[in-house]
Amino acid sequence: MTDPFVSAQTQLQELAAILQLDPNIVARLREPERIVKLALAVKMDDGHTKMFTGYRSQHNNARGPYKGGIRFHPQVSESEVKALSMWMTWKCAIANIPYGGGKGGVIVDPKTLSASELERLCRAYARGIADVIGEEKDVPAPDVNTGSKEMEWMLDEYQKVSGSKSTATFTGKSIEHGGSQGRTEATGFGGVYILNELLKSENISNKVTLAIQGIGNVGSYFAFAAFDAGHKVVALSDSSSAIYSESGINPHEALEFKKTNKTLAGFPGTKSITGEELLRLKVDVLVPSALEGVITKEVAQSVQCTYIIEMANGPVVPDADPVLHERGIISVPDVLSNSGGVTVSYFEWVQDREGKFWTKDEVLAKLQERIRDGFAAAYSATKKYSTTMRMGAYVSAVERVVTAMSAV
Ligand code: NAD
Repeated sequence: MTDPFVSAQTQLQELAAILQLDPNIVARLREPERIVKLALAVKMDDGHTKMFTGYRSQHNNARGPYKGGIRFHPQVSESEVKALSMWMTWKCAIANIPYGGGKGGVIVDPKTLSASELERLCRAYARGIADVIGEEKDVPAPDVNTGSKEMEWMLDEYQKVSGSKSTATFTGKSIEHGGSQGRTEATGFGGVYILNELLKSENISNKVTLAIQGIGNVGSYFAFAAFDAGHKVVALSDSSSAIYSESGINPHEALEFKKTNKTLAGFPGTKSITGEELLRLKVDVLVPSALEGVITKEVAQSVQCTYIIEMANGPVVPDADPVLHERGIISVPDVLSNSGGVTVSYFEWVQDREGKFWTKDEVLAKLQERIRDGFAAAYSATKKYSTTMRMGAYVSAVERVVTAMSAV
């Protein structure tokens, strides 16, 4: 398997070539500005102390405090955390939010810990990074296997160590602990705002047909918003079932059916298909919102859609991209399509700092504005450099970061 940090550096090299960047700037961007490695001592329930390895990588803060999630996973590595922190620099710049890129992680399978062991691990991690984080320095968030509970433990520990009462240093908290309205819907709804911008830019005024893979948090809110906007959802899937109806599916009703029956199969007016068939349906828009790596080179050769909105992280493998491009299929990259999540994290930080909270409607209206702006920059860079939308989005991001770096 390719080393993720080597992939991130190779991608940077390609972007630098397109933009003809100053090699001195590229040298600075090739490495994170800081990487903290922690040996975390955690007292286990049986009284013995277990050591865990944790990381925090801070890639670049030219545009604002470092921002990025903390993942708890056995496969966390220094290389992965460094790569993800570089990708966060680009992601925040694409969304045009005033942050740099950071990422953290602990090598652990959290399922093997009791709730109190997990809490002690979160607190140990927060103490370990306390000196390098802060609402104006580095603002962590949830990632794989972490959520609001973990952020709240970490924030509480950070407040004790730092003496600060601010709640803005961690995002992804529950509403009761300073979280933002609209976070649950943000990623899926943001994807539909992207879809609408794409259709406008492509001069498509009629409603479109969609096949959506995965109806978890992201896929379900995407399906609801697309359906409510008048588009026709013809296929939906989860990990064990997939359904199709030429005349369209009401996703609100399909999700209710799934709640009762634990499967989508048998939803009235639809027929069961396989997950593989869903990817190859003749639809206007394919929306992978479940897993990474589902659109392989072979799948790219046989999809029959015109557009792909990448809602999952990394659903299109690198060698599928040129195939899609050659076939004239526009794939809106994950960094742009699912940027609703990080944008509402930014809104949470703003609201915590102001001590003033917005309604869900206000959050979603502001999100729509931001997405419009991010999409426009990426779309125009795509046209300007006659490249894929992925490269267009990254080019627009790197340009923004380099401009910020040159200003100092
Ligand atoms: P989730 O766990 O809520 O949902 C995942 C869904 O995918 C479930 O419905 C599951 O049944 C389905 N699934 C699993 N395997 C499948 C398969 N083989 N075929 C079809 N469906 C399958 O997760 P989520 O939060 O919706 O995240 C989905 C993706 O979006 C992930 O790649 C995640 O990293 C990415 N993402 C999420 C957010 C967010 O705000 N939640 C933000 C950015 C990116």
